[in-house]
Amino acid sequence: MSAAAAELAQAFRDAVGHDPEGVFAAPGRVNLIGEHTDHNEGHVLPFAIDRHCRVAAGRRADDVVTIRSAQEPGGPVETTLDALHRATGWSAYALGTLWALREAGLPGDRGGDTGWDLVVAGDVPLGSGLSSSAALECAVALAVTDLSGSDLDRHTLARAGRRAENDVVGAPVGIMDQAASLLCRDGAALLLDCRTLEGQDVALGLDEVGLVTLVVDTRVRHDLTDGGYADRRASCVAAAEALGVPALRDATPEMLDRLEGTERKRARHVVTEQARVHRVVELLRAGRPADVGPELTASHASLRDDFEVSVPALDAVVETALAHGALGARLVGGGFGGSALVLAPARTAEEIGEAVVRRAADDGHPEPVVREVHPAGGARREPWTPGERH
Ligand code: ADP
Ligand code: MG
Repeated sequence: MSAAAAELAQAFRDAVGHDPEGVFAAPGRVNLIGEHTDHNEGHVLPFAIDRHCRVAAGRRADDVVTIRSAQEPGGPVETTLDALHRATGWSAYALGTLWALREAGLPGDRGGDTGWDLVVAGDVPLGSGLSSSAALECAVALAVTDLSGSDLDRHTLARAGRRAENDVVGAPVGIMDQAASLLCRDGAALLLDCRTLEGQDVALGLDEVGLVTLVVDTRVRHDLTDGGYADRRASCVAAAEALGVPALRDATPEMLDRLEGTERKRARHVVTEQARVHRVVELLRAGRPADVGPELTASHASLRDDFEVSVPALDAVVETALAHGALGARLVGGGFGGSALVLAPARTAEEIGEAVVRRAADDGHPEPVVREVHPAGGARREPWTPGERH
């Protein structure tokens, strides 16, 4: 029995007055490589990490849904099944997922009218690029499908989480985060084809050779609704149109000569990034994870120079990490702030962490938060059963 699951079950009892029916956990994720390839129908290579969002859940005999979160201490949010898609704020991620699953055919005891009590607690940091949002969506999705006895598959659950974020929260995200949280195998990354949604496990083998991954949150904040992100997506669409391909995923290096200026640079990032994803997969499959480092650093250079989505605080993390023993580093996520991923020998991790904090102080940037993350398996039901106490 996991202590975190037992504690959450207790929190459910305190709040709701009886045992939950089950406790479910879904991990956050980090994308090893494949940045800005998703919206070009290309490949990404995320892995689930050892930080989770947990949901204790129980069905109700009416059409009311209540949800509470230890991370949002503003009291419970209460709604009804027919109002789920009008949820706002943090609860929109969870209630939007339940809405999308019902749209996808989630069965209920009374013709689909089963209400829910949901109690949430997690250790995926919110808004740090580790996808706390998908962890929340996927934990809820697994909880309500499992307890309803639904046979909706994990791809459908992932799409429901994405739909919650797109249509209820209003964030234009792809499916990578939900796919990683639901489909990753322990110790492996997921090579995800964003066109077909086919996934393949790729063993990472980092531990075995003494490597660790650090995620450095620069705390320089980006806003996906800012013009920069939309502008990059638009350039990619324009470049694909100019080349006569469905998406830049289909462009070849030779085709780049047919483009000019900014469009050419944006397309070059996507084309070279696709190639880097495939090289990283080959290196991992050949048991050479240390050689992945230079590909990460090349990804960063491409995001900085061709896609132009880096900022000085991210460049400083990458530079400093490399100067203190990292094998590779790159910005992760959309860019314009956010986090960097560092691949490093375990023995250098502490020094790198200290050095990036010092460098940020010297440069007058916010103090970054450094976290070591380890590969983990996808969402699961916790081995906890009603009646169990600590
Ligand atoms: P990220 O997914 O990178 O952490 P997002 O901005 O996509 O950042 O999602 C963060 C938001 O998700 C939070 O602001 C909050 O609204 C919601 N969220 C995530 N995890 C939780 C949680 N455990 N409890 C309540 N809300 C959460
Ligand atoms: Mg998110």
